[in-house]
Amino acid sequence: MYLKHFVAQNYRNLQQLDVEFDPNVNIFIGQNAQGKTNLLEAIYFLALTRSHRTSSDKELIAFNQEYANISGHIYKSQLDLSLRVLITKKGKKGWVNRVEQAKLSKYVGQLNAILFSPEDLDLIKGAPALRRRFMDQEFGQINPEYLYFASKYRQVLQQKNNYLKQLSKGQAHDQLFLDVLADQLAGIAAEVIVRRYKFLNYLRTYARDAYAHISTGGEELTLTYRPSVPEITADDSTEVIYQKLLANFKKNKAAEMRKGTTLSGPHRDDIEFALDGKDAHLYGSQGQQRTIALSVKLAEIQLVHQLTAEYPLLLLDDVMSELDHGRQSALLNYIHGKTQTFITTTDLTGISWEIIKKPQVYRIKSGKIYLEKGELNG
Ligand code: ATP
Ligand code: MG
Repeated sequence: MYLKHFVAQNYRNLQQLDVEFDPNVNIFIGQNAQGKTNLLEAIYFLALTRSHRTSSDKELIAFNQEYANISGHIYKSQLDLSLRVLITKKGKKGWVNRVEQAKLSKYVGQLNAILFSPEDLDLIKGAPALRRRFMDQEFGQINPEYLYFASKYRQVLQQKNNYLKQLSKGQAHDQLFLDVLADQLAGIAAEVIVRRYKFLNYLRTYARDAYAHISTGGEELTLTYRPSVPEITADDSTEVIYQKLLANFKKNKAAEMRKGTTLSGPHRDDIEFALDGKDAHLYGSQGQQRTIALSVKLAEIQLVHQLTAEYPLLLLDDVMSELDHGRQSALLNYIHGKTQTFITTTDLTGISWEIIKKPQVYRIKSGKIYLEKGELNG
């Protein structure tokens, strides 16, 4: 799939943007604070109705404005679609082919985009919350059921935690109500976990192959789901996971009531990345950790393709200069001719662009975009 025509109004510093993109590679050059990340964020928002930088949509509306509007025209192999998202201070709405969608979950998934920024290089090194967010974002955009269960889980978890807090302070006493919430939460948690296993299973093979392709060391990358309830295994059915969670909640009930919070479940689970069986979070070198993060991003492209029969857009924010030449070439080779790609950079020099045939080059200045002709590779 690719994004042909894109319009943004009052989106951060992009006041009035109306631009045609190339179906292959689009490169955006600009100095700091000109709007490069804003542009990629706006494209990402058009796909997912969510920013990768903030959970507060209000920040996205240009200073002193009431709303932000973004829209685009996308082409897929079978059809073309127009998409639009309106962000106001009260909330957001989405349109597909000018039809307003009753729920944003109906809107998400029409356009798939994978964004890679320098912070993603911390996926392996960083805290488990980063890896959970990674799963929620990436699996949510390819599977509406995952999106539904993950958000339902957050909702019921919050409800249960609120109740546990009241119990811990002696403001509530009805343990039966706690059992009802625990039962409901275990049911939804099982739906989340079973899907995480399924998608990670696909991702594992692609990530292993991508790692072998990029790295020079010859180590093998493995990827393993680490549930916070250790009894749960990859082969368990949804029902079995539900039973094991329930048993775990029962065992932890007293402790949870004391602490006022839920101690296990998908919000405490993690993914382990290992090289030749050694946990890369603990033992991997900086370079190995970065190569794993890159491999996982590349694997996602394949995963989206497998599940939707379309390649997602790839948004690369400032990452080229963070990679050495070998990895730059591996990345560009991997995506070449498959995905529509958007690359931002402050400087064209020092990057191995040779692999890209005829990219479209733009310059960004103060939230405005200018087409540059004949700058790169003829
Ligand atoms: P860098 O190379 O440093 O990453 P960049 O080109 O990616 O820079 P952006 O993050 O896209 O920069 O844009 C930052 C600019 O957008 C800043 O000048 C900031 O003040 C402006 N900005 C951010 N939010 C808003 C907003 N809600 N309204 C207007 N301008 C905003
Ligand atoms: Mg930026």
